[in-house]
Amino acid sequence: MTGRDIRVLDEQIANKIAAGEVIERPASVVKELVENALDAGATRIEIEIREGGKEYIRVTDDGAGIPADQVPLAFARHATSKIRSADDLFSVHTLGFRGEALPSIASVAQVEMRTRTAGAAGGVRYTVEAGRPGSLEPAGTPPGTTVVVRRLFFNTPARYKFLRSEAAERRRVAEVAARIALAWPAVAFRFLADGRQVFATPGDGDLAGAVLAIYGQAAGPGLVPVDYELDGLRVHGFVGRPDAVHGNRDRMSVFLNGRWIHSAALLRAIEQGYETLLPPRRYPLAVLHLTVDPAAVDVNVHPAKAEVRFKDERAVFRTVLRAVRHGLLGAGLVGAASLGRPVEGRAAPAPATRGGQSGLYPGFERPEPPSGPASGEARRPAGDHAEEPVYAPGGSRESAGTWRGSSGGAARERLHRDAYPELGTGAAAGGPARDARTLLREMNVLGQLHRTFILGETPQGLWIIDQHVAHERVLYERFLRRAARGGGSVQHLLAPVAVTFSPERSGLAEQYQEELARLGFVLEPFGGASYLVRGVPVELGPGADAARLTGVLEEVLDACDGEGGFSAHEAAASLACRAAVKAGQVLDMSRMKKLLAQLAEADNPFACPHGRPVIIELDRMDLERRFGRR
Ligand code: ADP
Ligand code: MG
Repeated sequence: MTGRDIRVLDEQIANKIAAGEVIERPASVVKELVENALDAGATRIEIEIREGGKEYIRVTDDGAGIPADQVPLAFARHATSKIRSADDLFSVHTLGFRGEALPSIASVAQVEMRTRTAGAAGGVRYTVEAGRPGSLEPAGTPPGTTVVVRRLFFNTPARYKFLRSEAAERRRVAEVAARIALAWPAVAFRFLADGRQVFATPGDGDLAGAVLAIYGQAAGPGLVPVDYELDGLRVHGFVGRPDAVHGNRDRMSVFLNGRWIHSAALLRAIEQGYETLLPPRRYPLAVLHLTVDPAAVDVNVHPAKAEVRFKDERAVFRTVLRAVRHGLLGAGLVGAASLGRPVEGRAAPAPATRGGQSGLYPGFERPEPPSGPASGEARRPAGDHAEEPVYAPGGSRESAGTWRGSSGGAARERLHRDAYPELGTGAAAGGPARDARTLLREMNVLGQLHRTFILGETPQGLWIIDQHVAHERVLYERFLRRAARGGGSVQHLLAPVAVTFSPERSGLAEQYQEELARLGFVLEPFGGASYLVRGVPVELGPGADAARLTGVLEEVLDACDGEGGFSAHEAAASLACRAAVKAGQVLDMSRMKKLLAQLAEADNPFACPHGRPVIIELDRMDLERRFGRR
């Protein structure tokens, strides 16, 4: 076998290879083009995509433009106006300088550039397709540059196949656009998708204005300013109030010296700054700019992944945490005592207690503030109920199974599912065979434990039913049926509520309007990423505020995000979780009985949509044995 000659790759192949590294998807094209616009000193930048950016991407800026004779050069490999010599490498202040983006993009798409410098009498138009230069001709165009990228990866089918759904690609572009706009509040950004404006920032240098433009005016009253400095690290920006939380981290971003960075640790630091104010798996809005001496960081650990390494990781974590807490303290949202104390981890999640939330759950009392148990002491029900025995109603019933006091020890519980492996055929020990559903309907309801569990006496023991999970199960099945057939009752809101989705999700809202309608959401497009909510599933009740509704809807939209499209299961599960009675809510006897009766009707009363048990049983014989009665 003869050896192969070594050859220099021709430029087109080299560009394609480079494109594989730089240009992964529409979002990376947008990032490169917008960074070029920023390097050109633009003050207004418009980003437009169609079909997730797969078919069409346009970035228009009012920057310096490119002199006509240099336009073809801009598409040549390693052609850059940003560095002249290797020495310049150590003093670059621009976002790009390797001269790879334009040739890479042009090698895998159809690209058109229109550009004009400020002084020039007219502009030019230049096209490149699959790396082959087209014509350069005069064109009427305003000062600045427009780059249009059509049919990305049309000549590299393998890469095209790698792209995700339109909705998913659009989401990534929106994410990139939002991050850059939040990093550059002095530049006015406008982002359009499929002909509709998703957001437009004012570009007046005011970060709050950019945050509101992107996340909706509804976020306004909830913005808490953060400005804090410690040991040369400044943290400034905004965090959301803890009562305006979201089901995902989409609205959390951290910027380091003006650039968005990926840092799970710093997002955690932000969350810990809220101490116990955040409900479990709920995330605040947070846009924080960190300013630090560049010598204190290794920024280029991985340029493409936007990861950074700090010299003193822990100090940065602590400072961010304190900055958030300091901001919340200033807004009167956390106690002063918590400022000095290091928070080692998240304490037990507290039920949300701020006003304005209980309206979503009519008929249920607002949850009480957490009765913070002193360490080591047993937690007792707070308030009026503190003196009431756990077992009060019907207390004169004397049956062998009656439970009068807590053993205090670790009761040997059994999952009800284990006790009744076959649904509905559970035979009571020593008693007549009873259908488990009948037991649910007929049990002697003893009361509520810790405002979380319903206690019920059955002939063969004590049932402990998680009120939230039980209600969740009931509602899940209801929403699941509705997702398939529609026809649920809609609660029409007296005053429509305007909600604004994160840029990533606004497209999904449009795409899945029909599915949402079946579930009972009456939405009306209200410009950009905003919608007017005119009706909600009756289970959510009236009086919903914008922040809450946005959260509920976004969680449902997340269920639509999979490659397989809309998942009725996920949508029903998230709605059910949101609408179900919470732990911490007081239920009166009739409400408990109604809930148990509904549970008895469920297709599967024994597990929540995600598999958590609904019912746990303390076996009567077990109890008797432990008390030495057997
Ligand atoms: P780099 O940004 O690394 O220099 P690019 O391939 O992205 O490489 O761009 C090549 C050159 O084209 C830039 O150095 C710049 O001179 C010019 N250029 C690209 N986009 C613009 C724009 N929007 N406005 C003005 N000049 C631009
Ligand atoms: Mg560039």
